[in-house]
Amino acid sequence: MIALSLAEIAAIVGGQQHDIPDPGRTADGPVVIDSREVRPGSLFAALPGDNVDGHDFAERAVAAGAAAVLAARPVGVPAIVVDDVVAALGTLARAVVERLDATVVALTGSAGKTSTKDLIAQLLERLGPTIGPPGNFNNEIGLPLTALRADEDTRHLVLEMGARGIGHIRYLAELTPPRIGLVLNVGTAHIGEFGGREQIAQAKGELVEVLPSAEEGGVAVLNADDPLVRAMSSRTKARVVLFGEAADADIRAEDVRLTATGQPAFTLHTPTGCGDVTMRLYGEHHVSNALAAAAVAHELGMPAQEIATALSGAGQLSRWRMEVTERADGVTIVNDAYNANPESMRAALRALAAMGQAATAKGGRTWAVLGQMAELGDDALAEHDAVGRLAVRLNVSKLVAVGGREAAWLQMGAYNEGSWGEESVHVSDVQAAVDLLRSELRPGDVVLLKASRSAGLERVAQALLAGD
Ligand code: ATP
Ligand code: MG
Repeated sequence: MIALSLAEIAAIVGGQQHDIPDPGRTADGPVVIDSREVRPGSLFAALPGDNVDGHDFAERAVAAGAAAVLAARPVGVPAIVVDDVVAALGTLARAVVERLDATVVALTGSAGKTSTKDLIAQLLERLGPTIGPPGNFNNEIGLPLTALRADEDTRHLVLEMGARGIGHIRYLAELTPPRIGLVLNVGTAHIGEFGGREQIAQAKGELVEVLPSAEEGGVAVLNADDPLVRAMSSRTKARVVLFGEAADADIRAEDVRLTATGQPAFTLHTPTGCGDVTMRLYGEHHVSNALAAAAVAHELGMPAQEIATALSGAGQLSRWRMEVTERADGVTIVNDAYNANPESMRAALRALAAMGQAATAKGGRTWAVLGQMAELGDDALAEHDAVGRLAVRLNVSKLVAVGGREAAWLQMGAYNEGSWGEESVHVSDVQAAVDLLRSELRPGDVVLLKASRSAGLERVAQALLAGD
């Protein structure tokens, strides 16, 4: 963080100083919410958690070197006391961002935010110091924590923004006002909470509404292939840059294909040149993410050829997203257990099918180990059924549906599409899935693990990779 004295921080957040012997002491270490991550000079924000209260760790944080605690009550060690610690984090982030000499890039969308944020960070790092850490920091806590990592040297700040309702993105965007705002897609993630796609589009589009005008340098980067995103052009004063496969996109992919290993390849076209990309990441959905990242890099002056090279070299940053590991015995585990919605399920299944072509030629099989997609509201049955059917149509060898009734719907879809009997299995929990796979897997098999976060399928991946 930019070095600020405790007195300055207290003034910014409107807090009371308690037990602070030296208000002139600077907090120049990272702002953290986990006392184990405290470094000398940290500011430790005490948040009430579901099981533990951060205030109970205040003493430990100061003992570990924290300059002070941002707290909701006096804690007996140096503290800046505020009514609402989360709101204070936001206020502090806003003040810090105002002092930066950095381009703020913010992105939202239903699927691919973290993946795209990682790609953008890897590209922009080539242009100058960039903050866009691995992981999913997209809410009123994670976003300020990320922004507060920036300092005087930072040239680019790349921020993921998630929306669970109308007004969320506007709130986040006002904390860290972006010059470049990117909307990836409008899918069905959290549709149960929103009520429908139009409402999701309404919420995501708040990002482009808050951008500066074109004259002030504002740029709205929009997905030309997603009608609800494209339509956001009319909601912004910023200059619009379109990316996608559409013929009128400014940043365009042509000749899109999957290599035999399931990695996307395409020719990148920009207004100033083109370049060939073969990605290291898996799954065709990364073409759209890559184009979005390319659009941002292009705006910041990176030549097309360099963008293509950087995209081709970009690797996995945030875990559990199409993370491919080959075991010593030749079984390949594709851990995409971070999260799932209908769009990302389809993308992952298609990637599995592409990877499986090489595997099946050598006698290996493809396994789709899938669990529930949460928060689908009334669409839940139909969407699970459709995913089960797609597994059959893509010639996946085996479907293992893990969990409760959603898993039953996945299996029913497979049964109804292809009269699948033995090819699909329904198991009730993670342990049963692990037991089944341990006894069935053989060299050459490719196993995709995917479900919503709550299903915990990453534990299957961990069990299958343990001891390897
Ligand atoms: P969250 O809302 O949880 O923050 P996110 O938008 O950050 O999610 P990622 O974490 O990047 O998204 O990816 C989540 C899932 O979506 C992964 O399974 C990934 O394979 C898939 N995915 C990534 N990009 C896309 C895309 N452009 N379209 C569809 N699915 C995608
Ligand atoms: Mg994310």
